[in-house]
Order: sequence, then C-alpha cells, then structure tokens
Amino acid sequence: MALIVQKYGGTSVADPERIRAVAEHVAFTKRHGNDVVVVVSAMGKSTDNLIKLANDVSSVQPDRELDMLLTTGERISMTLVCMALAGVGIDAISFTGSQVGIITDTVHTKAKILEVKGDRVREALAQGKVCVVAGFQGVSTDKEITTLGRGGSDTTAVALAAALDADSCEIYTDVTGVFSADPRIVPQARKLQHINFDEMLEMAGAGSKVLALRSVEFARNHNVPIQVRSSFTWEPGTWVTSQEPSMEDPIISGVVTDVSEAKVTVRKVPDRPGISASLFEQLAESNVNVDMIVQNTSTDGNTDISFTVPKADMKVAQGIVESVAKEIGAAGIAQDDSIAKISLVGAGMKTSPGIAAKMFRTLADNDVNIEMISTSTIRISVVVAAADLEKAARSLHTAFGLDSGQSYSAPLPERK
Ligand code: ADP
Ligand code: ASP
Ligand code: MG
Repeated sequence: MALIVQKYGGTSVADPERIRAVAEHVAFTKRHGNDVVVVVSAMGKSTDNLIKLANDVSSVQPDRELDMLLTTGERISMTLVCMALAGVGIDAISFTGSQVGIITDTVHTKAKILEVKGDRVREALAQGKVCVVAGFQGVSTDKEITTLGRGGSDTTAVALAAALDADSCEIYTDVTGVFSADPRIVPQARKLQHINFDEMLEMAGAGSKVLALRSVEFARNHNVPIQVRSSFTWEPGTWVTSQEPSMEDPIISGVVTDVSEAKVTVRKVPDRPGISASLFEQLAESNVNVDMIVQNTSTDGNTDISFTVPKADMKVAQGIVESVAKEIGAAGIAQDDSIAKISLVGAGMKTSPGIAAKMFRTLADNDVNIEMISTSTIRISVVVAAADLEKAARSLHTAFGLDSGQSYSAPLPERK
C-alpha cells in the first residue's frame, strides 16, 4: 500500500463544485488501495481577502494576530473537504497545522518549519482514515500559531511527505505542470516533463510561484520527488526530482517573471566602510528579505544604493531605511513599485558562455531598459519596468528557442 500526499491550491478548492471534484479524486486514490494525506490551501483568494480585511480595520497589525487571522482560511477548506469526502463515503478527519505537530520558529508571517511530529496523522491513517491537513501553518516553539509565508501550503505538503516517508507528493494546481514560463504571461510556454531540484530551486527563488521556494528546499534536502499537476484536467504533470539534466536538455529551462518586489534607492550615501553593513544588518534583523543590490560608483565621495525587497515587507523596510538614511547623512530615499524581475534559469548556463550577452541584446532590440542585474551559476536576473514585463518575457522565450509552437490549451481558470 502506498502513502500519497496530495496538496490542493486555492483555485482547486475555490468553490463547492471544485471541492467536490477534489473529494472525488481523493476517494478514487483511496479506493485504489492507497493511504492519502490531503493538504489544502484557503479557498480562492480568501487569504488576499483576509489581508485586505485586516488593512481595512487597522494599519497596526500585530504579527501574532495577523497569523491567527490568516490561518482561518485553511481551516475553512479542510473542514469542507472532509464534509465532501463524507458525502462520497470516505472516512476523513481534518487537522490544523498545530494538531499535526508542525513545529516552527517564532518568526510570524514567514515561519520556518523546524520539525514535523505527525503522530495524529499516523494514528488516523492506521485507523483507515484520510487525513486532511490545513496548509500554510504551524505552531511555534513559543506555542503561538504561525504562518509559513505566501504559498506556504506547498511547504506543508512536502514537509509532511518527508516526515511520513510518503511514496509520492502531488501538488495539484490550476496549470498542467511546470512550464518554461508562466503560461498566463507567455502563452507559447512549453510544459516540462521533468525538472531537477537545483533548477526548480532557482526558478522558485527567482519568483516563480508555481512552487514555494521553501517547499523545493525541503524536497531537495529530504529527496522528496514532487509531481506538479492540474486538478482541472488531472493529466500527468511535471516531475521535480534529483535527476541530473541530460545532454539533450535545452541550455535554458525557463524564463521566470516576478512582480512581487519593489525597488528602494538610498541617494547620496557617503562612500565609506560600514555603511552598507549598517543598512542591511538592520533589514536582516527585521527579517526583510533583500534580493538584488546595486551600488553605483561614487562621485564626490557619495554613491546611490538600490535594492529590491518584497512589496509585502515594504512597510517595515521603509521605516528602517528612513532612519538609517538620516543616521548616515544620505540625501533621501526613493521607492518604485512598478518593477518586474525577469530571470533566465538553466543548468546548461554553467558551460555555455554568452547567455547574458544574448539576453541583454534581446532586451535592447525590444527597447527594454535594464535597471538592475544579478547572476548565480545557473540564473541571470534583470529588473525592468513592470510595463515591459510581457514584451521582455515573450521575446526572451522566443530568442532562447523555448516557444512550443502552440498556445497553452488547457483551461486557465480566472482567479476569483
Ligand atoms: P496554487 O493556488 O495552486 O498554489 P499558485 O498561484 O501558487 O497556485 O501557482 C500556480 C500558478 O503559477 C499558475 O496559475 C501560473 O500562473 C503560475 N506560474 C508561474 N510560473 C509558472 C511556470 N513556470 N509554470 C507553471 N505555472 C507557473
Ligand atoms: N493560502 C496561502 C496563500 O494564499 C497559502 C497557500 O495558498 O499556499 O498564500
Ligand atoms: Mg501556490
């Protein structure tokens, strides 16, 4: 008998009809002799709506209370999925993250999983039940309810699959797999049959939200193979595993787009040792994830420093940057929310020179201005104006020979 973890994202449980479709698939899996652990996200856009509700109530939002609020979204879906399962004759039981012993650190709103106990899941499975676990949440070492960062239900699923030594971890979403680009932005994107952990890690790190970054880190560290597939068509999806890329694989496996970050510029910073350290240390202490950093060459002993941070961290970052700018005698700060990050990811980059040059030439030919650049061994990222996102992504996708020759054909559900 196999143990299968199935995770269903927000669009997969967005309404009663989708929930019943999920229950039928879970029932089908169970009736084929498997043990099943289901991990659910909040219905549709309910996490966004809860955040909006909090914003409408108060601009002061203690992290602890925000986490308490956000975890309710997944609680709603877990109970409804259990009811739908009962309706098709399957004995199921729901658990919150804390009930199944998902133990995290104490960083509210982006807690890291430290340990998964899973005793109640094992007991319920032994009694023949399907377990339905609320994704995206845990309980901290201080016994407080925490959330795992946006998209965190993926991490719950992979962490549970690792802890329970599951035979497979299926991530059901609203596209049919991992593509060479987001099919909503590049309709000619190609479905990948397979992608390895390192490339998927770079894609997730570059901001592709098809899998949350921490879920891929977990999968790589514990060698949990993942299959990303659609809960709308149920066709075989994309395997994410440790398998090394082969010689036939293309040099570039994907173009990744990300509009979740904003750019901050600190102007006329005195160019002397210790300035960057004091700025970025304080951001790190407040758990702000700084991504790209550019420091211009200094003129008259002053320099501009620009960096990107998640828009969600902007409020915290702004307070810190304003006070540090004053302390160090900088001329002021500027903020730009209308940026997009575009990255090329591919293991073949290690051994193929000229990828960056071709990327920059393609963008130039399409009249796209590059504002920032950063690289890793298998990724090149640039920041451009948000208005240029589609043009840049599509032209790079074509230039690197990734177009599939046909537009994405499965349904692309609207996000309600
Ligand atoms: P879920 O709610 O199921 O977790 P997400 O919105 O988190 O869904 O992730 C699925 C979405 O990721 C897709 O609808 C698609 O628009 C987007 N996406 C971004 N990059 C890719 C990619 N390379 N391949 C497939 N989907 C991608
Ligand atoms: N509901 C959470 C979010 O919208 C977690 C998830 O869906 O994975 O970010
Ligand atoms: Mg997701």
